[in-house]
Amino acid sequence: MYDWLIVGAGFAGSVLAERLARDRNERVLLIDRRDHIGGNAYDCLNDDGLLIHQYGPHIFHTNAKPIFDYLSRFTPWRPYEHRVLAEVDGQRVPIPINLDTINQLYGLDLSSEELQRWFAERAEPVAEIRTAEDVVVSVVGRELYEKFFRGYTRKQWGRDPSQLDKSVTARVPTRTDRDNRYFTDTYQAMPKHGYTEMFRAMLDHPNITVALGTDFQTLGTTQRARRTIFTGPIDAYFDHCYGALPYRSLRFEHVTRNETWHQPVAVVNYPQTEEFTRVTEYKHLTGQVHDRTALTYEYPAAEGDPYYPIPCPEHQALFKRYEQRALAVPDVWFVGRLATYRYYNMDQIVGQALATFRRIDEAVPRQAHR
Ligand code: FAD
Ligand code: UDP
Repeated sequence: MYDWLIVGAGFAGSVLAERLARDRNERVLLIDRRDHIGGNAYDCLNDDGLLIHQYGPHIFHTNAKPIFDYLSRFTPWRPYEHRVLAEVDGQRVPIPINLDTINQLYGLDLSSEELQRWFAERAEPVAEIRTAEDVVVSVVGRELYEKFFRGYTRKQWGRDPSQLDKSVTARVPTRTDRDNRYFTDTYQAMPKHGYTEMFRAMLDHPNITVALGTDFQTLGTTQRARRTIFTGPIDAYFDHCYGALPYRSLRFEHVTRNETWHQPVAVVNYPQTEEFTRVTEYKHLTGQVHDRTALTYEYPAAEGDPYYPIPCPEHQALFKRYEQRALAVPDVWFVGRLATYRYYNMDQIVGQALATFRRIDEAVPRQAHR
């Protein structure tokens, strides 16, 4: 009955469902074991009527016009530039580290040129930049690394930055100007009516059937389609045959406070204190007007839903074994953050899904439906 079974209704699965249904006029069964669409980008109103992100703050940003244009078919946008403060030595200062961060933290009045020299005097030369520690100490030196990165990273990943790939902390740049935006991408915006509404519009097509609360592992063979797109953890697909691939989890504590605003920006990071890594106040992101405010505290955890692949050489080697095995499975495509074990942002997943669609479209003859 279905041409495609798609496992996972996050960005990877939903984009492919939309493309196959609308562009190829093929019939798709999209399943998710959760009771909602949207994957980790899911948002909803909490009991107090405040729009929150169930799985932590999701801020859309991209430099890719085709990806922004594609998503713009399903949502209008609210322009939003993300700003983050880090609580360091009892002060709240901007992160990424920039001119204002250093001047405020050390009571200085440096210019950009002076700050470049100031960093150069402190930077530790590293022969080959491999780890998440190298990336930072080679630019700003050990003191700032310890204040801003070491504690946060140990909390977030349960391991020292020296044991993680450089790509992890390279996500957060260092600047010598006063630009205090978290991202500098050309397109930065939030879906005006929320992510879940955007997904609803994407999946609103007669060729798409969505089955929630449905786990792939418990599907009978008759419910499986000839072709499958799998966006869950790749090791789970193969029953962990080579051992479990480590994914980092989080516990989210969602609260409503009886105050209009709690903090000056959407996210405050805690690299030196607290068990949580960061606190998000959603009204900054959503623009919602409400006399109360909703916050989320993120507590990193080893156990729980898989959220982050943990980038380091051993895990990459294990992933490669699963990937080799996946390449040998006919008529199954592995797409998304969990199935390709990549620390990808939403826009990168949309790009990956659109590229997969193009490959499928070249390789797989279209089903003839009237
Ligand atoms: P997911 O969204 O994880 O979707 C996979 C789906 O598959 C899930 O819904 C899962 O329930 C389902 N599934 C898995 N196994 C099965 C099974 N056996 N049967 C049925 N269903 C199954 N990106 C940004 O661009 N900006 C941000 O600000 C940002 N913030 C983030 C904050 C946090 C805390 C986290 C965890 C991620 C953040 N991301 C952010 C990354 C973003 O969440 C991902 O890039 C994106 O959601 C990945 O989409 P996906 O479809 O690959 O995976
Ligand atoms: N990081 C840090 N201190 C910060 C912010 C980030 O040490 O104040 C490090 C940490 O290892 C984190 C990584 O940089 O996991 C990437 O940060 P980002 O904000 O991109 O994390 P995400 O939003 O993906 O959780």
